[in-house]
Amino acid sequence: MNIQNFFSQHTALAFLALGTLTYHNAMAQDAPKPPKMTPEMTEVWEPEPKVVTPGGINNMAPPADAIVLFDGKSLDKWASSNDPNKPAQWTVANGTFTVKKGTGNIQTKQAFQDYQLHLEWQVPANITGQGQSRGNSGLFLASTGGGDAGYELQILDSYNNRTYSNGQAGSIYKQHPPLLNAMRKPGEWNSYDVIFTAPRFKEDGSLFSPARVTVLHNGVVIQNDTEIRGTTQYIGLPGYTAHGKSPIKLQDHGDPSEPLSFRNIWIREL
Ligand code: MG
Repeated sequence: MNIQNFFSQHTALAFLALGTLTYHNAMAQDAPKPPKMTPEMTEVWEPEPKVVTPGGINNMAPPADAIVLFDGKSLDKWASSNDPNKPAQWTVANGTFTVKKGTGNIQTKQAFQDYQLHLEWQVPANITGQGQSRGNSGLFLASTGGGDAGYELQILDSYNNRTYSNGQAGSIYKQHPPLLNAMRKPGEWNSYDVIFTAPRFKEDGSLFSPARVTVLHNGVVIQNDTEIRGTTQYIGLPGYTAHGKSPIKLQDHGDPSEPLSFRNIWIREL
């Protein structure tokens, strides 16, 4: 090594050391010293969560602040999806209502955004058919248009009835299979407890944040904060089109199997 190279290398190191020293001095002088954390600093007192009387565990009676969407007596909270000015045509009897095949989907008169929903559904004991043609209905978490437009949480007889996993009971149709098959056999009642966060859109209509959903099927978590990719499609890929508050919709599927029944539907807006 000649003397010139030796000098330039050491000069560079000296400048580097000086720079590092200057940086550390600046940090020491400018950065505020973090305060010592105390337990109180991470306590949140306001707002105080409101007290609500919960319903019974066995019958899942609605909590005191729920909107009852079906009380066992009438479908007056529901309308025909084909013509929302007309009443729902499905059949009410014995504290339940049953799909009237061919009359089309039904939807809530009220529109919702984020919510907790409880719904009970029953595949009849005499169900026939197989795959998607065995007790097919669906809970559209938000109806975004006519027909089957929206985000469908599948309702199907998935008791000993194999179909594609992302189309069985508890799937977000063609997007997310359920984590487990928690199905009860035909003739028994199933429950869905759903926590739904609607998608949000920017002013130009583009997606800001996708819909998310958590679902319990008979008390078992089968969708855990699942991100919905857009409207559920029988054919094609999901996508989002901007919308606001939307009705909740139940499916009159075109399959020829015996129709499903529903009872005890309530919702709490979040
Ligand atoms: Mg369906």
